[in-house]
Amino acid sequence: MPKKETLDAVASEVTVCTKCSLWKSRKNAVPGAGSPKSRIIFIGEAPGSSEDIKGEPFVGTAGKLLDTLLSQMESSRDKVFITNVVKCRPPKNRQPKPLEIETCTPYLDRQMLIIQPELIVTLGSHSTSYIFSKATLPFSSITRVRGKPYKANILGSQTTLFPTLHPASALYHPEYKEILEHDFQQLKTRLLKNRSKVNRT
Ligand code: URA
Ligand code: SF4
Repeated sequence: MPKKETLDAVASEVTVCTKCSLWKSRKNAVPGAGSPKSRIIFIGEAPGSSEDIKGEPFVGTAGKLLDTLLSQMESSRDKVFITNVVKCRPPKNRQPKPLEIETCTPYLDRQMLIIQPELIVTLGSHSTSYIFSKATLPFSSITRVRGKPYKANILGSQTTLFPTLHPASALYHPEYKEILEHDFQQLKTRLLKNRSKVNRT
């Protein structure tokens, strides 16, 4: 089956999922969005209030910054694939609990198996610690591990991990915006330099 259809099938399941208690307070589940042909997947933490209303990832203030960062690397949200570790909004934007992450991440794993990303960009500590544990890499803190690529085997495929800060963190700490810009610049020059396109043809 083409990637788009298999991704849509995962999204349909997410939309009606009741596997953890987060479904009770959500307006809309947020499966993820973007191009099924992307070589890159961006993974955030969990939907916030704007995402919960629209059913789309990164459409609030943090999403605006993500859009700017993507345009600085000459890309855009429709060319890449963007999703989250947990697909429903935790009440009052609290952090997702370990059991919610454990229950929800089979969806993320299926999305990664379909997309087969060459580059996995984790935004913030939750997605980074999840993906690092899958790769059996030690995770200390996001500020220590961020901004460099790691070769890793994820779900049986060789890929490159690139952890960076969560865009929402720059809303509270303006100095983090420069770090994010620096990291996205690295993505562009070091990791995408031999690839004329973000998408596979
Ligand atoms: N923060 C996230 O981690 N994900 C979103 O989709 C929006 C904000
Ligand atoms: Fe299902 Fe994930 Fe939503 Fe929990 S957070 S209800 S596991 S889609």
